[in-house]
Amino acid sequence: MSGYRLLFFCFATSSFALGLGAEPTPAKRAAAREIRATPEEPSITFNSVHVDGPYIALTFDDGPSATLTPKLLDLLAAHHIKATFFVIGENVAEHPEIVSRAAREDHEIGNHSWSHPNLGKMSDESVRRQLQQTDDAIKSATGKRPTLMRPPYGSITAREKRWIHDEFGYDIILWDVDPYDWKRPGPAVVRARILKETRPGSIVLSHDIHPGTIEAMPSTFDELEAKGFKFVTVSELIRMAAARPSHPSPQPSGNLPPSAAGSPSPTPSPASSPAG
Ligand SMILES: [Zn+2]
Repeated sequence: MSGYRLLFFCFATSSFALGLGAEPTPAKRAAAREIRATPEEPSITFNSVHVDGPYIALTFDDGPSATLTPKLLDLLAAHHIKATFFVIGENVAEHPEIVSRAAREDHEIGNHSWSHPNLGKMSDESVRRQLQQTDDAIKSATGKRPTLMRPPYGSITAREKRWIHDEFGYDIILWDVDPYDWKRPGPAVVRARILKETRPGSIVLSHDIHPGTIEAMPSTFDELEAKGFKFVTVSELIRMAAARPSHPSPQPSGNLPPSAAGSPSPTPSPASSPAG
């Protein structure tokens, strides 16, 4: 048990023992706040998740596309793969039946804003409208509100993350594997980049609005399966998060080192990337 945890345990135990039925003093309340305001608060932003097992989450952004998303859903069904779609509200309003099908087939639907603006440069009121309209469109198409959001371009401020999490209850989902498929490098390159970078706990970014991405998927799925990866939705991956020691020690070397739970990804910040 870390010193911090021991301290918290002692505090909780003694305040229970001594203060039962009594209103805590302001000093005690301040101490409790201070103890809770530590880096061990549950994370609300994820680039990847530390998991015990070969689990990964494939994510597809910017759809639904009238032609490509149904094709992708067919491929995912053939492979029994569950994925996560970060959809654009405008596109949901145009093709609600595709989003409804994705949800019915047990894929997860996340909020990717209404019209794909740079949220990091917008007023809170405009951000709120972007997210609320999309939340409503997803609810109307699937019967369920999303619990995840991904900011377009990965662009979001720390302050926005906090209030969006508080108001909408969303976890903020970034990624640790980016094949830059939006640059349309061709299916072979998209596949090679995904295979090279994917680790247990990875969150893989792609876009179901580019033909080359969909073309890359059958062989990408085959090869990820051959490497032993198992596919889950982002929320499932987060629920699998394994406990980490409070002071991370060097990991034993293995084939596929686990990545950090909710910590910054070793790859460059996606905020600087035009992807997402
Ligand atoms: Zn996007």
